[in-house]
Amino acid sequence: MEDIEKELQKCVRCGKCRSFCPTLTEKRIETRDIPGWDTRTPRGRVNIAKGLQEKKITPNQKISELFYNCLFCAYCVNACPSGVDVNHIIEKTRLYLLENGFAPTPITTILDTVLESKNIFGLDQEDRAEWTEFNVEEIYEGRINRPAEIAFFVGCQGSYKGTLALVSEGISLILDKYKYDFTILGEDEWCCGNPIHLIGIEDDRFLSFAKHNVEKLKKLNVKTVIATCPGCFRMLSKIYPRYLGELPFEVIHSSQFLAKLINEKGLKIPNELETRAGFQDPCELGRHCGVFEEPREVITSIPGLNFVELENNRMESQCCGGGGLAKVIDDNLATEIAKFKIQAFQEKGIDTIITSCLGCYLNLLDGKEKAESKTTIRDLNDLIAELLDLT
Ligand code: SF4
Ligand code: SF4
Repeated sequence: MEDIEKELQKCVRCGKCRSFCPTLTEKRIETRDIPGWDTRTPRGRVNIAKGLQEKKITPNQKISELFYNCLFCAYCVNACPSGVDVNHIIEKTRLYLLENGFAPTPITTILDTVLESKNIFGLDQEDRAEWTEFNVEEIYEGRINRPAEIAFFVGCQGSYKGTLALVSEGISLILDKYKYDFTILGEDEWCCGNPIHLIGIEDDRFLSFAKHNVEKLKKLNVKTVIATCPGCFRMLSKIYPRYLGELPFEVIHSSQFLAKLINEKGLKIPNELETRAGFQDPCELGRHCGVFEEPREVITSIPGLNFVELENNRMESQCCGGGGLAKVIDDNLATEIAKFKIQAFQEKGIDTIITSCLGCYLNLLDGKEKAESKTTIRDLNDLIAELLDLT
């Protein structure tokens, strides 16, 4: 907590960050047992962190939940006129709570799991490339863990979660179609370390993951690393260099790769998609890493598609509810926020929501079910692969 003392002092309690925190709306407060007046706002969390740091407040389980159900969406960071890095305060307070035995059980479970098994699911590393064996087996024959120009960093979700195989398959089919020289690390890929870093851990428990992945990618002499997951993308492009210095390869998100294909290689999408579509800005891709335009360039290049922006977009976009490990401890809150987001798209007459984040895709599917909505949710990689007749 000493690390954040100066950061805590920057807060002048103006409340500018309060109004749009997705974990606080009148409707949601009614459903919670924690008093909602200020505790569930960024300002409330900053003040509680200050109380903990000054030892005026004793930690307990309910306080812990407040910090662990922050979505890490950075809306408050963007809104704060004093430049308070609320997300850093949240990470460090999470760590303090963990070290004092107050982290929620699902958090300690996921941390132990990832540290031990090198992936968030506790599954065998040898099975990391099993997803390639269904619809893209031929593409990956002789391609796994070998020197190449490009490495596709698949991530834990894209590797192990069956519902998300379409994302990993989509980008693989496109890379193959345009004859790129690419590889994946397979069992040598470890979790990017995001779930560890989100708990404020910056020591070797996190660094060993960053160092391992960079070493393995370096060994394959890759020039570019493509990530479909904004969490992996943020780790590799922004957080790893903070600790390890400049990396010997560029890191791009798959939406940036697709935009390059369109803008620089003249890719034309042959098939039409007649729909009124909106885009869910993933927080870790947009507000955290500044990638807003490329996914829009890809979406608007689709013939027949009518693209509609929400009023709150780009820096002001509202989180889908699935970020920052919050879904791990409070799936109901995450899904409830996704339901609100689905309704915001519906109010604009949008019938297809396009995402470029595996977490948004899954959480919006949950929100769609809760909202009993007919809105279609599509992943950008999978959608483009389909419109190129590759699936
Ligand atoms: S975190 Fe920033 S915006 Fe929020 S109350 Fe403090 S100074 Fe104001
Ligand atoms: S990061 Fe998002 S969810 Fe967390 S306190 Fe800030 S606005 Fe609220």
